[in-house]
Amino acid sequence: MISDSPDISLHLRRMMVETQLRGRIGSERVLDAMLRVPRHLFMPPEIRPFAYEDRALPIGENQTISQPFMVAVMTEMLEPRETDRALEVGTGSGYQAAVLSLLCREVCTVERIRPLYERATATLAELGYGNVSTYLSDGSIGLPDHAPYDLIIVTAAAPNVPEPLLEQLADGGRLVAPVGLRYEQALVLIEKAGGEFRQSWSTPCVFVPLVGRHGFLSGDE
Ligand code: SAM
Repeated sequence: MISDSPDISLHLRRMMVETQLRGRIGSERVLDAMLRVPRHLFMPPEIRPFAYEDRALPIGENQTISQPFMVAVMTEMLEPRETDRALEVGTGSGYQAAVLSLLCREVCTVERIRPLYERATATLAELGYGNVSTYLSDGSIGLPDHAPYDLIIVTAAAPNVPEPLLEQLADGGRLVAPVGLRYEQALVLIEKAGGEFRQSWSTPCVFVPLVGRHGFLSGDE
């Protein structure tokens, strides 16, 4: 059982970083952020005993908090810099936003399910992640009022990279998303330079669906 004692959870995070991430994730900045964010506090209490296991976990509303490796690899692919502004589509628990917030200037994160949005907003505020702003809307159309973004991360599976997100990416920016079929995707990295987009594919993955105008039409297909 994980207690809320900082010492025990820090020990478990060290184990997570050393056994699940080091060797697969090269960026010391990303490893350090994964060490610092108390992952268990972003989960409902009954799930906390499993918080540092090498897997995705349920957070309610049929949604999940991603596996630590997936959070780390997507964050590393973004190559975040201290001056960057980031958009996350799919706030979920707020954990990925917290990790990213330690590595860049500002994170805007958008969620479509109200109870998750409310819980993540409260958790991020309680834990003092002051450079994260949360929004409740269909993130498949991005967050145009606050664009452009140097970094965009989509943490739900999309059939294609949503066109509005490409438009909201700053020149020189990077976007990472799981793209593919409903139950089978791969991570895609899009780099925008001089108005041109370069695309590369990497890690296979399975995410819950991006549900919205530029995602899957519902969570069921
Ligand atoms: N990044 C999250 C975290 O750290 O806990 C995990 C995200 S979970 C795998 C995917 C999230 O995307 C779910 O919370 C889901 O409700 C959300 N989502 C799906 N479609 C969305 C949309 N169109 N706009 C915003 N959020 C969406």
